[in-house]
Amino acid sequence: MKVVTTLAELGDVRATLPSPFGLVPTMGYLHQGHLSLVRRARAECASVGVTIYVNPAQFSANDDLDSYPRDFDRDLRLLEAEGVDLVWAPADEDMYPPDFQTWVKVEALTRPLEGTHRPGHFRGVTTVVTKLFNATQPDKAYFGQKDAQQAVVIRRMVQDLNFPLKVVVCPTVREPDGLAMSSRNSYLDPQQRKAATVLYRALTAANQAFSAGEREAEVLRHIMSEVLSTESLALAQYISVADPDTLTELTGTVECALLSMAVYVGKTRLIDNMVVGDKGSVIGEK
Ligand code: AMP
Repeated sequence: MKVVTTLAELGDVRATLPSPFGLVPTMGYLHQGHLSLVRRARAECASVGVTIYVNPAQFSANDDLDSYPRDFDRDLRLLEAEGVDLVWAPADEDMYPPDFQTWVKVEALTRPLEGTHRPGHFRGVTTVVTKLFNATQPDKAYFGQKDAQQAVVIRRMVQDLNFPLKVVVCPTVREPDGLAMSSRNSYLDPQQRKAATVLYRALTAANQAFSAGEREAEVLRHIMSEVLSTESLALAQYISVADPDTLTELTGTVECALLSMAVYVGKTRLIDNMVVGDKGSVIGEK
């Protein structure tokens, strides 16, 4: 496994790697969710690269950039064990030099949901992912359903800007009690960690109601909201039943939907989602 930081080193190593080359972009502090993407890439590609970069451009001033968990040595051990060929951990100076002024922005899809509450977040994501794609030239790029809107936005960007690569979205990996794995779960104290299962419980309740025939968007939202309100340590920021393709909020009868939410547990902001209906369980899979 080659570990590189500069663009020059990256270019040298990338040139030696066989096609198809699969890329897994991450912010590090790896868990089984990240590793599921790596394994999928390993199974589908002749060579695999992972990027580790806590992208300042996707955090806003009151976000957790400084406290975001990092453990580079542990990440490298985990990736080595997965048979990864290349790890690229770019430096801020290379990604955003002082005269940097070019941004990639996806429009309508970035306005609702996370976009409403994290202004500028997706502009940071799409810009850094563009830079990662340009520098590594992947044939396939792997993203998690855990960040459903991000997956939809990146699919759109890849199509709109004619990136010659395939976006693969992998299912959300959960802890045994249902909590979606996330680097941010490490912020939770034991009591909050227990409370954090309420996101999964809320999504599951709505999913079960849908399976039992409930089709009213408002009722599905209400079911999630009721479950969330039973947990005193949890405070919902949004609860959504949206069109899985356009991400616009649905009203009336729905045939398929992206159920999603952002919930504060203490100071920690957690997101989770499930897709119900005939679109299958993974967002944007056609
Ligand atoms: P992050 O390091 O949080 O930026 O995540 C890097 C990639 O891993 C993104 O495509 C995420 O959607 C994906 N990911 C994060 N958590 C999970 C999870 N629990 N299951 C599946 N994929 C995940």
